[in-house]
Amino acid sequence: GYRARSAYKLQQLDETANLLHRGASVVDLGAAPGGWLQVAAEEVGPEGTVVGVDLQRIKSLDAENVETIRGDMTDEDTKSKLLDLVGEDGADVVISDMAPNMTGEYSLDHARSVYLARQAFEVAMDVLDAGGDLVVKVFDGQDLQDLKDDIDPEFQYVREVRPQASRKQSSELYLVAKGRITAPVSVGD
Ligand code: SAM
Repeated sequence: GYRARSAYKLQQLDETANLLHRGASVVDLGAAPGGWLQVAAEEVGPEGTVVGVDLQRIKSLDAENVETIRGDMTDEDTKSKLLDLVGEDGADVVISDMAPNMTGEYSLDHARSVYLARQAFEVAMDVLDAGGDLVVKVFDGQDLQDLKDDIDPEFQYVREVRPQASRKQSSELYLVAKGRITAPVSVGD
């Protein structure tokens, strides 16, 4: 069984957008308790690698191809730890299910969610290889279009996907950006 119901959302996103391949290198942001890590580890298999990051501690998984970092993705320190762990080969896929603690105040929750999504986009620009894919959760609202417009030129296309496993009432959706157009430029190149 999976640690979180959200595992089914990643399976649906993968079926819709063909994200996870054997041997792929995956970065999973907001990974606790680890449902997406379980799905990604299965899909990439033993030749692939999955790196998960979360504010919360992630109980270790049986899978040998998974590593985790405990940290805040809005923190430069966490970002550099992640870049070190991913290494020069870069990543094929960045997936982010990061969500803010909900206040119930709609515009605040939306703004915080967009902020986290932008962190994921920044990390993707640092680690994703050319041709790589980005999937990022965001709550619908007034700043969604701006976010989408910023992501769009970096990929072949970006679209909104609402997995059936997301609760019906929920305003959450995923931006699926396929096919990064250019490779990251490392400092010093
Ligand atoms: N995909 C996960 C799974 O399948 O188990 C569920 C993720 S849960 C919906 C959202 C996660 O985002 C929470 O565990 C939360 O701690 C994490 N999160 C929120 N803000 C974060 C931040 N700034 N840095 C790292 N993780 C963050």
